Amino acid sequence: MNAARFTEEQVQRYARHIILPNVGGAGQRKLLDSSVLIIGAGGLGSPIAMYLAAAGVGTIGIVDFDDVDVSNLQRQILHTNDDVGRSKVESAVEHLRAINPSIDIVGHDTLLFSTNVMEIMEPYDVVIDGTDNFPVRYLVNDSTQFLRKPLVYGSIYQFEGQATVFMPGAETPCYRCLFPSPPPPGTVPSCAEGGVFGVLPGIIGSIQATEAIKVITGEGETLEGRLLLYDALHMSFQEVRIRWDADCPVCGKEPSITELIDYEAFCGVPARPE
Ligand SMILES: [Zn+2]
Repeated sequence: MNAARFTEEQVQRYARHIILPNVGGAGQRKLLDSSVLIIGAGGLGSPIAMYLAAAGVGTIGIVDFDDVDVSNLQRQILHTNDDVGRSKVESAVEHLRAINPSIDIVGHDTLLFSTNVMEIMEPYDVVIDGTDNFPVRYLVNDSTQFLRKPLVYGSIYQFEGQATVFMPGAETPCYRCLFPSPPPPGTVPSCAEGGVFGVLPGIIGSIQATEAIKVITGEGETLEGRLLLYDALHMSFQEVRIRWDADCPVCGKEPSITELIDYEAFCGVPARPE
């Protein structure tokens, strides 16, 4: 550990990391020098952002387009009752600054489209998917593949959640290797329609924050190549191996997807005949 590289405030704030094997001063330095983009300031985004801010990730970007609704507060612990009606990004930035005023928090108050996602993502080292919808999930997967950035994936539904890490590289899997294309609109209920157990995003989001820290520090063994499945109702964890698909439309040998595809193209009538 080279304590001289930390300010007195940093030594105190991050003391439990600095003395921790597998993090230490070197790991804490990597965290402070890193930048992470969190997609969504909701159920998953809340614990992800709060733990990464507390851990001293030097720059945290957070993207959302929504306002805080009272029905969010059952699980979106980054926001409080006083934030109802405010933009989620504005609320998130304020609360994250309160947790750790010494890091940079960047709010991106926007929907993600093919036209802005790469530009928003480009400056960041790691991307974390905390979205609740398929069009953005595919947009984020494809963008991280094109930009070759690590993607920490998580998703939740009712009492069940999933998480993994996608590391772009030679013959490593991406989200489309598992699920080549999104389900047709209307066939999968959203969280709003299906309900979600309030603690569930806390578990999955915390796992995503854990994985992001390991990706940044290079310590331990990430979920790369393993899809972790969690069932809150029966309190069970399972994992399945995931493999690169040579026929994957985005990272396969002969990719058919070479540019980003927008929400409308997925969920509405195709904009033009194929
Ligand atoms: Zn793939």
